[in-house]
Amino acid sequence: SGSLVCVGLGMLLGAHLGPRSRNQIEEADVVFVAASDALVELWVQQIRPDARSLQPFYADGKSRRRTYAEMVEAMLVEVRAGRRVCAAFYGHPGVFARAPHAAVARARAEGFVASMEPGISAEDCLYADLGIDPGEFGCQHFEATQFLLHRRRVDPSAHLVLWQVAQVGDRSLGRFETGAPYRRLLVERLAKDYPLEHEVIIYEAATLPIDAPRVERRRLDSLPNATLHMHSTLVVPPSQPLEADTDVLAKLVELDEPSR
Ligand code: SAM
Repeated sequence: SGSLVCVGLGMLLGAHLGPRSRNQIEEADVVFVAASDALVELWVQQIRPDARSLQPFYADGKSRRRTYAEMVEAMLVEVRAGRRVCAAFYGHPGVFARAPHAAVARARAEGFVASMEPGISAEDCLYADLGIDPGEFGCQHFEATQFLLHRRRVDPSAHLVLWQVAQVGDRSLGRFETGAPYRRLLVERLAKDYPLEHEVIIYEAATLPIDAPRVERRRLDSLPNATLHMHSTLVVPPSQPLEADTDVLAKLVELDEPSR
């Protein structure tokens, strides 16, 4: 009977695909591919010339919710027809990516075997390229529009990473980029927790071996004028030192030295 596996291609063309994912791509009856870069799709088509691109489902002005629903349906049609289906997504298929999670859940709900293979995400590249260890001070990740629209608690002693920052404030979920007035709202929101002159980083991982990553450091309040792409991620480093909880510290001292 049919099955589905969603695999990750990683970020760097030809260099991040793990053997388990490659095997799934080679062995499947039907392969779908959704990569950020046309070259990456061409590369997958070298492994599987019959791989079908999910890219045509995207369109400017079309809600990504509809796009994802159509992608899921395209995959499920083949699973229901009894085929072994592999869908390959750039990065990690389960990181800031709705369609792969939805497809796996739907396939399971319909009684099919479905799973996900992790890949190297933009987040992984970010830690390597920017020299950030999320374990050092902690690291919060949010989708930029969700962050703007909800009352989230920011910890300025941790790193903050905002995804899909070029589309910040796009409630239609259909635009590829918003613009300066939307970014000003984001700056206003961030200014509640950070000084306006705080240094933020626009990050773009390299996707081609000849490229270098983009690491652009600038003041928070200059963000509205920055060049942002669909594949830009905003990193806000900590602005405050860690603050010790002296009450807990006292209790720990008591535990360590009960006789005192
Ligand atoms: N699943 C992908 C992954 O594992 O990295 C993320 C997909 S998410 C829909 C798209 C967002 O990922 C972008 O708006 C950006 O924040 C981030 N992203 C994608 N490509 C990137 C790149 N080359 N460098 C930095 N961030 C990237």
